[in-house]
Amino acid sequence: MELEERSKLDRLTGLYNKATCEDMIRASLHKAKENESFALMLIDADKFKNINDTYGHTTGDKVLEQIGSVIRDTFKGMDICGRFGGDEFLVLMKKVISRDNVVTLGEELRSALKERIKGEVYAKEVSLSIGAALFPDHGKTFLEILGSADKALYYVKDHGRDGLHIYDS
Ligand code: GH3
Ligand code: MG
Repeated sequence: MELEERSKLDRLTGLYNKATCEDMIRASLHKAKENESFALMLIDADKFKNINDTYGHTTGDKVLEQIGSVIRDTFKGMDICGRFGGDEFLVLMKKVISRDNVVTLGEELRSALKERIKGEVYAKEVSLSIGAALFPDHGKTFLEILGSADKALYYVKDHGRDGLHIYDS
């Protein structure tokens, strides 16, 4: 059972791995009641290649661990948090009441990371871009919502990074 449990996790951050969080998110959307709304957040570290190039891969790994731990603390087990691959993370927020909820938690995450890494040599070079999309408004299937969150993320990447945007058609 322990081995099975471990195979669901990403070894570096301890968050769910890609396959597991995808399965869990699909299952949550499938079970969603008519008036339930969720938000999917796609979180990507900014200019992360530069961190590896400047400080080395081991330091890069440490930063990814710190990002993972801040994600876990911010969403406190109420939501599904996973490492989607590389420097990209996924969170499914359940029981989303409003867009303001999403903005508040996203901003909380971004400032908690700043607090967590202050004092590190790379403190000024690490930031997050977050794209979010709402279920069911911005997609009814996992791939549809992921596509909307990805568009929102690329909007942030194209507009200076270090920010959050909710999908807007
Ligand atoms: P952007 O702001 O556009 O996201 O720029 P970026 O440099 O972060 O670009 P991108 O997200 O495409 O690149 C992610 C980099 O993360 C690529 C790879 O070198 C690095 N990376 C991926 N997985 C790991 C890992 O497990 N450990 C470390 N240290 N680096 C990783
Ligand atoms: Mg990146």
